[in-house]
Amino acid sequence: MSPSVEPTQTNGGATKQASEWTPTSWRSKPIKQCPDYPDDAALKKATAELRQLPPIVHPHEIDKLKQNLRDVARGEAFLLQGGDCAELFDYCRQDAIESKIKLLLQMSLVLIWGADKRVVRIGRMAGQYAKPRSNPTEIVDGKEVPSFRGDILNGFRLEDRQLDPQRLVKAYNHSAATLNYVRAAIAAGIADLHRPLNWSLGHVKDPDLKAKYTEAVRFLQDMLRFMHTIGADRNSKLDTVDMYTSHEGLLLEYEEPLTRLMESSIPVPPGANGTHERRQQYYNTSAHFLWIGDRTRQIDGGHVEFFRGIANPIGIKVGPTTPTTDLLQLLRTLNPDREEGKITLITRYGAEKVSSLLPGHIRAVEGSEYKRCVIWQCDPMHGNTRSTGTGIKTRRFNDVFTELQETIRIHQEEGSYLGGMHLEMTGDAVTECLGGSEDLGEDDLSTNYTSFCDPRLNEKQALELAFLVADNYRK
Ligand code: PEP
Ligand code: MN
Repeated sequence: MSPSVEPTQTNGGATKQASEWTPTSWRSKPIKQCPDYPDDAALKKATAELRQLPPIVHPHEIDKLKQNLRDVARGEAFLLQGGDCAELFDYCRQDAIESKIKLLLQMSLVLIWGADKRVVRIGRMAGQYAKPRSNPTEIVDGKEVPSFRGDILNGFRLEDRQLDPQRLVKAYNHSAATLNYVRAAIAAGIADLHRPLNWSLGHVKDPDLKAKYTEAVRFLQDMLRFMHTIGADRNSKLDTVDMYTSHEGLLLEYEEPLTRLMESSIPVPPGANGTHERRQQYYNTSAHFLWIGDRTRQIDGGHVEFFRGIANPIGIKVGPTTPTTDLLQLLRTLNPDREEGKITLITRYGAEKVSSLLPGHIRAVEGSEYKRCVIWQCDPMHGNTRSTGTGIKTRRFNDVFTELQETIRIHQEEGSYLGGMHLEMTGDAVTECLGGSEDLGEDDLSTNYTSFCDPRLNEKQALELAFLVADNYRK
């Protein structure tokens, strides 16, 4: 989107004057979930520091992801996005980062086998530090305290609940350190498929499932061996993968100073004089991909205003509270040029509601000028959060799988393409979601429940979901 004032041809055919966009124009709009920092001078100091720091990601990488996402929108590739609900500064460690990369890689192999398509990988990592909250305060041990809003705003420990603007800079540093190690580990061959992966399936109790998974793993291993034998892997990219980063673009005080006018790596088509010009665009250099959450997608709100001006590919969470008319207005505001794959609609209705709500949303979009323009991605986590009798936040593996399965079925019936899935998961052996092949029960939740926000699938549950989805595609 051009930063200047220009008449915009809306896709409904009417011409309307687009108001001027700047990285700060969101400030004149009503906004939800926006922190009220008590110390303005400290906030100014922190954001001035951010403005000086180099981009975390490069426009060239953002443009490359956009090209990959265009293939997803066309039905030629699949998008796998996953990671923690809330990343903590503490997760910026070698083992935690490596286990996330390996899990995404392993799941993508299973999906390639199942869907017979290339897989684009995006981590919910290296910046997923801000969390929307339903209430600004909560009761802990009978005392009302400010809610934990993510490490970028305040700390989980009760003594750290006051907002601290220096955390903005800390978030930048932790994002940069995390992404630095992702790049280093990939360059050093962490994704090298010649290395044996740990596919141990000992935890799978159901003999039929186990036989199915064993067959899939054998197929993948045979395929890799075969490629090696015939030398097909010699000059190919089997030792490396692309990994992109993403987070919810919630805290605009952070996103604004990292949004920079930079040269696009994709030349515009040759002009009359035959030259290939490169466009200047505003890139949000805090991550490759950002999404607007379910609580902040008001058409006239600050978040939508900010997002409409950035060149990055963006996601919009869509749920039971999204009116169909809002959906089209959002697309027209955020993607007036109808770039294929620019917008990912991340649907999250819950297992019970998906079959009554998704078809209407699909028909509205696919019946409009945005036909085959968006990526439909299923987030089977956020509509399925529930509490146990003792008040522990959890999700049932079966609900997660049911929503995914229903979403696949509905897209098949409607003739649209389910292009991806969006999961909260971790490479660690946590016990936060119920069920799965280990059949975790409510009594097991306390064994290793470490999330400070929403419950995540553990490594085995996440891999199992990939197998189930792959199996669905092979039917
Ligand atoms: C999330 O993805 O962590 C989240 C808060 O989701 P939603 O906006 O869909 O509720
Ligand atoms: Mn979450």
